[in-house]
Amino acid sequence: MSRKQRKNKQFYCIHCRQPISADAYGTKHRNHCPFCLWSKHVDELPGDRNCACQSAMRPIAVETRGDGEWAIVHRCEGCGEMKANRIAGDDDELQLLGLILRPLTAAPFPIDHLPMRGPMIPYK
Ligand SMILES: [Zn+2]
Ligand SMILES: [Zn+2]
Repeated sequence: MSRKQRKNKQFYCIHCRQPISADAYGTKHRNHCPFCLWSKHVDELPGDRNCACQSAMRPIAVETRGDGEWAIVHRCEGCGEMKANRIAGDDDELQLLGLILRPLTAAPFPIDHLPMRGPMIPYK
């Protein structure tokens, strides 16, 4: 396959059905939708694609790594497997922030008294 053909390769998101180009800014290999952040459960080893369950993978959390990089934790709706995938440069920032804030908007205990002025927040 020529470089140009690969660039034009598209697929449709398993969740929101938007067309997605396979080339992602900042990653070699696009593995989730930049609009809704959903993924699809396929094996990344070449030749193994048919063995995977192909179900939709729901974005459930954002993981931070030691070097300040973010990864989206996906859970497969079909088999329950969890996977962390690096974010891409064109992932929807509001969707990412929504994913991070979701537990706070539905906290199982009151969070009105968070120490927002504590030493954790540096003064400018
Ligand atoms: Zn999508
Ligand atoms: Zn699965």
